[in-house]
Amino acid sequence: MSQTTQEKNVFPKEMKRDRYQMVIGGQMTDALSGETFKVYNPATGAVLAEVPKAGKEDVDRAVKAAREAFDNGKWRRYPVGKRARVLNKIASIMRSRFNELVELEVLNSGKTVAAAQGQVMQAIEDFEFYAGAIVTHSGTVNNMPGPFFNYTQKEPIGVCGQIIPWNYPMMMAAWKIAPAIATGNSVVLKPASLTPLTAIILTEICHEAGVPDGVVNVITGPGAAIGSYLVTHEGVDKVAFTGETSTGKDIMAKASETLKRVTLELGGKSPNLVFPDADLDGAVDGSLFGIFYNTGQSCEARSRLFLHESIYDAFMEKFIAKTKKLKLGDPFAQETHVGAIISQSQLEKIHSYVEEAKKDGATVVTGGEAVQVPGFENGYWYAPTIITGVTNDMKIAQEEIFGPVVVVMTFKDEKEAVKLANDTKYGLAAAIWAKDNGLIKRVADGLRAGVVMVNSPFSAFPGTPFGGYKQSGFGRELGYETLNLYTETKSVLSYIGAKPLNPFNLQ
Ligand code: NAD
Repeated sequence: MSQTTQEKNVFPKEMKRDRYQMVIGGQMTDALSGETFKVYNPATGAVLAEVPKAGKEDVDRAVKAAREAFDNGKWRRYPVGKRARVLNKIASIMRSRFNELVELEVLNSGKTVAAAQGQVMQAIEDFEFYAGAIVTHSGTVNNMPGPFFNYTQKEPIGVCGQIIPWNYPMMMAAWKIAPAIATGNSVVLKPASLTPLTAIILTEICHEAGVPDGVVNVITGPGAAIGSYLVTHEGVDKVAFTGETSTGKDIMAKASETLKRVTLELGGKSPNLVFPDADLDGAVDGSLFGIFYNTGQSCEARSRLFLHESIYDAFMEKFIAKTKKLKLGDPFAQETHVGAIISQSQLEKIHSYVEEAKKDGATVVTGGEAVQVPGFENGYWYAPTIITGVTNDMKIAQEEIFGPVVVVMTFKDEKEAVKLANDTKYGLAAAIWAKDNGLIKRVADGLRAGVVMVNSPFSAFPGTPFGGYKQSGFGRELGYETLNLYTETKSVLSYIGAKPLNPFNLQ
């Protein structure tokens, strides 16, 4: 039987719990079926907690609560400055509980504490960014012929179904919730089943900060069942999805039945181009971070490394040596570089790509196998892997692996570099390592990618629009323009002449 155990908006103090509940209409609740599923710590393989396994009836409840909050509630009618204050309050509660959020994120994802610290901080800054951005987001007054007056205003779209992946659980939840509620929408958030914990806590924090009941709801359960149902739900106006390209295609098809607004942040196979004049050490260190950060489980992972043939040997000597120095181990140790893989099945998927590459004639220079980490023997760990002898048409160079695996290829000149970089169905991110500003500009112009990094290991900060070209999806998150993707534009046209108009000229 279902249980709703919460006094309104009084959430347990402890973030670490044996059992979590969803939040629907401001109340903590189990699934109506009473079913639950287990959530694991990927670094140890141990069970971390149980969470409700929502069914369609729970999706109905969450959409109903979000609908009610949107249609009859006060949130979207608040003065924009008041919404901004609540967003800032969310950020300040998160700041005050920073270490607890980081700990929970590390436990549920197996990522390193250093990575989690950066990502939780970015989630906080995302709320702060949209608190600032929303107060300047407004419509226009447009030039009209004769005695007409036209203005536009930005209005929230309605109920947003938001579905997120497991690789950046806290950050993805913030990327979704912050711009959606800043603009006055209501949200039903479905986190990945492997990593729902920090999304649940963030929803609780939203309520604590003063977001009215029903504006942010979180449901937990299998994507194929409840995610898919959310996408087809008549009560949902917009779907914002981050995940695999194949899932995105399915979602886009389903959402078209009710003509929902859709934004898709999908996979990538991002090129990392190193030119002869690059600062070699900077390029090595940045390339290392570009692929092995977050254990390679990043949509923007620079997983195809293209080196100018003149620097191949010098670069590879340093790159291989430093890769071998990367430390796998206790995710809570600040000196650990590479955390765990999210699950056994992801580990197997990564390894099968490596095995297939070997069959295709590629060479594993280092790594290429699962590893046992002392003290974490039951966790899921894979050695940072470099593969050479690859051509860009091989499966290992074309498909997203989503693990600590980089393939290395060479190019002769600028033109070939751009051609190879673009020779993929994806277009999420790309990196350039060079000094010549003319070359950097030409290459950046030629790259078909939503995000281009120049001599930078980092791809985005709050304020940078983030999203893909081609089959990496469409729409942008994290930037100012994201506000447009959570709003409709209403055009109001008035006739302001002294004499009424009679356009049919009937007497
Ligand atoms: P996934 O597509 O398997 O799952 C993502 C989410 O969708 C999960 O919550 C899942 O439960 C749900 N889901 C699964 N099937 C569904 C369906 N049929 N209908 C509706 N929802 C469904 O992706 P993942 O393995 O969790 O995440 C990894 C992927 O996410 C990678 O491809 C990565 O590149 C991508 N990603 C992209 C970005 C970006 O900004 N472009 C950011 C992070 C991750």
